[in-house]
Amino acid sequence: MTSKSVQLRVPFSYLDRQFADLEPYLKDIEALAKTGVFTLGEPVGVFEEKFAAASNMPYAIGLSSGTDALILAMQAAGIGPGDEVISTPFTFIATVASIAMVGAKPVLVDSDEEYTLDPSKIEAVITKKTKAILPVHYTGRPADMKRIVAIAKRHNLKIIEDGCQAVQATRDGQPVGSWSEAAAISFHPLKNFNVWGDGGAILTPNKAFAERVKLLRNHGLLTRDKVTVFSRNARLHSLQAVIGTRLLEKLDGITQRRIELAAVYDRAFADLKGSLDHPKREPSIKEVYHLYILRAKNRDGLLQYLHAEGVDAKIHYPIPVHLQEGARYLGYKEGDFPFAEADCKRIISLPLHQHLADEEQAYTIDCVRAFYKK
Ligand SMILES: *Cc1c(COP(=O)(O)O)cnc(C)c1O
Repeated sequence: MTSKSVQLRVPFSYLDRQFADLEPYLKDIEALAKTGVFTLGEPVGVFEEKFAAASNMPYAIGLSSGTDALILAMQAAGIGPGDEVISTPFTFIATVASIAMVGAKPVLVDSDEEYTLDPSKIEAVITKKTKAILPVHYTGRPADMKRIVAIAKRHNLKIIEDGCQAVQATRDGQPVGSWSEAAAISFHPLKNFNVWGDGGAILTPNKAFAERVKLLRNHGLLTRDKVTVFSRNARLHSLQAVIGTRLLEKLDGITQRRIELAAVYDRAFADLKGSLDHPKREPSIKEVYHLYILRAKNRDGLLQYLHAEGVDAKIHYPIPVHLQEGARYLGYKEGDFPFAEADCKRIISLPLHQHLADEEQAYTIDCVRAFYKK
């Protein structure tokens, strides 16, 4: 595409901007190194307490990644071989893969207008083997948990939430993790709240469940010498806990900034309905915009145009999970989940992160508007 001179480069990711103020983090790491507490111990305990408080939940358990948080949460809920777990193909691959990783069978239902699991499609796929529902709070927008909880109660199913994109999100005033056995959270470098590598946690309202996950993340060791269940090492690194504890001071601000930026985008595109659409913004939903996703007319044209203008828009994701090669053994085919498939062809993610400058957002808006006004 022939392009005017690019006026600004707007990156999608912000990692090089995030730690402009490195000094306090390095001081904390130095202090940790002097203690020699490199596995669990006080640094992880302190972080867990503060992260739980920041999430408005009773218990947080620090783990090695969001994926391990999903896996350990399912294992702690007693899900394993022979069980079926209901989830959605409109998500990051780890949601569905983690069901397979505990030995269970992923059973998928379509997504809906809100980018999340469509509750009206759940009951049709429940069988005698169904053990749990795994809704995803995709983009940082909590799924319709009132309806999902009602279905789970009716059929005696457990719920595990994939909250990897939804730190500090709420729906009807309730925090992520509060509707279920536990929510999995990711601290991957590109998530809203992150550490310097991989990390994750579960949030749970249930003390016994938290204790069970604590066992599972540490070889099933009840004490140094006593093992109650075989498991593995899925601990949050103490060093990452120290970094997380420092960054937690900024979490409320991060969440606020993302919400503000999303509102600016929403207003800027309000007159382009039909060309650019998004789920209805409900006052009862606190969406934290891990991703700012629009449904765009001529999405591929828009994407190409934005790239030519220096705006690093992305697609999350172009291929729904059920059409991935890794999912072939499940037997799904094109046409099985029309809403998710249609969304994968029309969605676009605009740069939105806590370090996005106002002028970068204004430039992005100008470029998007210019495309549709051509
Ligand atoms: C990031 C993500 C995960 C996995 O988290 P990791 O920390 O990268 O393992 C799982 N589910 C969703 C929806 C995610 O966005």
